[in-house]
Amino acid sequence: MVFKCQEDSFLREFKTKVVSCEKIKGGFNVILEDTVLFPEGGGQPSDHGRVNDRLVKSVIRKGAQAVHFIEDETESAPFAVGEEVSQSVDWDRRFDHMQQHSGQHLITAIFDREFQLNTKSWWLGTESSYIDLDAKDVTREQLERVEKICNQLIVDCTPVGVKVYEPNDPALQSDVTRATRGLPEDVTGPLRVVTIEGVESNMCCGTHVRNLGQLQAVKLLSVEKAKNKCLVHFLVGGRVLRKLSECYEREVQFNSLLNGGPVAHVELIKKLQSTVRGTQRVAKKLTTELAAAEAERLNKLQENPPKYVFLHRCDGPDSDFVNTFLRLSKLPETFIFLTNADTDSNGKGQMVLQGKQEDIAKLGPEMCSLLDGKGNAKGTRFNAKVNKLKNVVLCEKLVQTHFSEEGLAEK
Ligand SMILES: [Zn+2]
Repeated sequence: MVFKCQEDSFLREFKTKVVSCEKIKGGFNVILEDTVLFPEGGGQPSDHGRVNDRLVKSVIRKGAQAVHFIEDETESAPFAVGEEVSQSVDWDRRFDHMQQHSGQHLITAIFDREFQLNTKSWWLGTESSYIDLDAKDVTREQLERVEKICNQLIVDCTPVGVKVYEPNDPALQSDVTRATRGLPEDVTGPLRVVTIEGVESNMCCGTHVRNLGQLQAVKLLSVEKAKNKCLVHFLVGGRVLRKLSECYEREVQFNSLLNGGPVAHVELIKKLQSTVRGTQRVAKKLTTELAAAEAERLNKLQENPPKYVFLHRCDGPDSDFVNTFLRLSKLPETFIFLTNADTDSNGKGQMVLQGKQEDIAKLGPEMCSLLDGKGNAKGTRFNAKVNKLKNVVLCEKLVQTHFSEEGLAEK
């Protein structure tokens, strides 16, 4: 992992002292006198970073303290209490979270201002993020309008500021419109308010950009309606570029796979799907015809029926061969051993037996177990899903032994 630090010396390397270092399952919980690592909170995941050379995988808030988790299977504590240590932050992760979080404030504010739609909660995901709007639905036009306004405010390099207020500060009541929304009841200390100049103020503990220009771009992806939820998925900044790269890479692969440019992709895929459907229809017809021919061939032996018949196919799970064959077969005295392997598997498939009830009851479970299958007998049939078709030969031997004297075996 690469650790880059902000030009601000505060984040490059920060000296502090160890208050406690407690052994827990899988590592140590470390509390420091002060920290530059953001603990999970306000919808934002925690920072990653280092204390000396040890990786910090998560930081959580416990009261007024931040608890840093350091993975370590050993019993020997990485730090002594009172020891001076230096901290640094995984800046790529921090900056990404700043972009998504400030972006969320901006998107939330514009939905509120333009359409009076309140944000109930939000989620910062690893791929994309969303806000949950207090709305039944959001139209394509509304999405486009919000996205356009957000991106104009980014172009304008609108400043973002952070101010800390005492809880009884009159400013909190007057000009800070959204500031005290969602304030946890146990908060007694100073209140931190994040203001996007000319747009909104919002009480928040998260890390933010100084200027909307640092957001680069906002992209509203889609609206997902779930039970009592209306989720607007979005990307901000580096994630927009990352998504564009992924889409472009995919597009290039499609160009060569489909032998046509992006404009033709949908048409080419539709054509391909229709060709596949046609091919499947033909395959189904041929398989059924083949099964009928096979049954007819064996039915000719009705006068002198074979003791057993082996038929092994590799048509895959959707094959109609087995059912058609059994439906048309007129050899009730003959023990029929059918298998059908999955086309893409190594030994997985289907086993079907048909014959006299006593033969099925005797051979069915043994053959099923040889093929590592799961199934059961029902009168004159035995059906099973099996995993080890390479043992088919062993099953054949079993059948041959069972019917001891050589029959008129068909393969
Ligand atoms: Zn926030």
